[in-house]
Amino acid sequence: MTTIDDIAQGVLRFRNKVFPIRRAIYEELARHQDPQILFITCIDSRVDPADLCDTDPGDMFVDRTPGSLVPVYNGTQRSGISASIEYAVTALNVTDIIICGHSDCGALKALLHPEKLTALPAVERWLHYADAAIAHVQEHHAGQDEHTMLQRLCEQAVVTQMGHMETHPCVQKRLREGTLRIHGWVYEIHTGEVNRYDPAARTFALWPPQAS
Ligand SMILES: [Zn+2]
Repeated sequence: MTTIDDIAQGVLRFRNKVFPIRRAIYEELARHQDPQILFITCIDSRVDPADLCDTDPGDMFVDRTPGSLVPVYNGTQRSGISASIEYAVTALNVTDIIICGHSDCGALKALLHPEKLTALPAVERWLHYADAAIAHVQEHHAGQDEHTMLQRLCEQAVVTQMGHMETHPCVQKRLREGTLRIHGWVYEIHTGEVNRYDPAARTFALWPPQAS
């Protein structure tokens, strides 16, 4: 279990060992950022976007929400994630948005057991952005085992969030211009694999396909 003392040691190691080796990268990054990717994933501590994509600092603009959920655009409410999307799409001009769900997602698991949310009213309210996903799973996968239902819910939640993403005016504008792509992923923590949504086939499949 990592404690705050361990974190202090980590910060020291970064300062004294990692930073000096990569000084040129950080000095370049100190002046500007130019990421091409907006990566939205869950707050789960087991999901590390830089680890998963083997990227360096500056490569991806990352935002995280419980369940990797993206609100439907609302022009009157304050929303951190909507501001992140707007900044990434309009100011940074990213070319690709990845919405990355993951296996064993606690936030989505709670939707299968709503009684666990009684002490978490803010989480409960937030999870309403997955209403369409849970409705889909209850309609099409009711009675299946919990693992399967959670897996389907995770996939369906990603698909739902891809639709929510398209309600944001800045995203609509770039999609109309043909200069932005939206990708839906599910990261399998236990295998290290990414399954990507194929809108034409309406299924998730290993991505990229394994090199032979
Ligand atoms: Zn999660």
